Amino acid sequence: MDIKALIREIPDFPKPGIVFKDITTLLQDPAGLKYTIDLLAEKCGAFAPDYIVGMESRGFIFGTPLAYRMGAGFIPVRKPGKLPAAVHSVEYELEYGTDCLEMHKDAFTTGCRILIVDDLIATGGTAGATAKLVQNIGCELVGCAFVIELTALKGRQRLPDVPIVTLVEY
Ligand code: IMP
Repeated sequence: MDIKALIREIPDFPKPGIVFKDITTLLQDPAGLKYTIDLLAEKCGAFAPDYIVGMESRGFIFGTPLAYRMGAGFIPVRKPGKLPAAVHSVEYELEYGTDCLEMHKDAFTTGCRILIVDDLIATGGTAGATAKLVQNIGCELVGCAFVIELTALKGRQRLPDVPIVTLVEY
């Protein structure tokens, strides 16, 4: 199946000059959604994660069914102020300024195997910060998986040296 054919490109969103990759058209296609989750599960099978960590908000959409399919738990990483219990936080650099991501302190125990999942890797800032959060707590990052990779932005360089799975590249 051609996943790329189901991803819509929206020029000048959210800012002029950016061609946004819109995955809502992939999600609404029953066969496309099933194929995408099944393919991620197949390519990530060897990682045998205890938990999938997904980033707000599109990482939740792909991460949760993948966790269900792989028999793992799902842990959300969210923007500040959204999680109700005590959190670990990490700051990361944006083009202009910084942003922050949070995860519940009691979400997992030291030494567990973590797979990070998001819809897309661009500069790698989001996934790199999430990787730091996971590794700071003493968990084993066993891999990262993305539906889409924007290769020109070299996001991989901001990730630790772990296997990276991507399904389509632009
Ligand atoms: P990065 O931190 O620069 O790698 O950007 C990746 C994050 O931005 C992910 O959480 C994506 O959901 C989001 N993102 C950036 N560009 C796009 C896009 O074109 N489509 C969908 N999400 C995007």
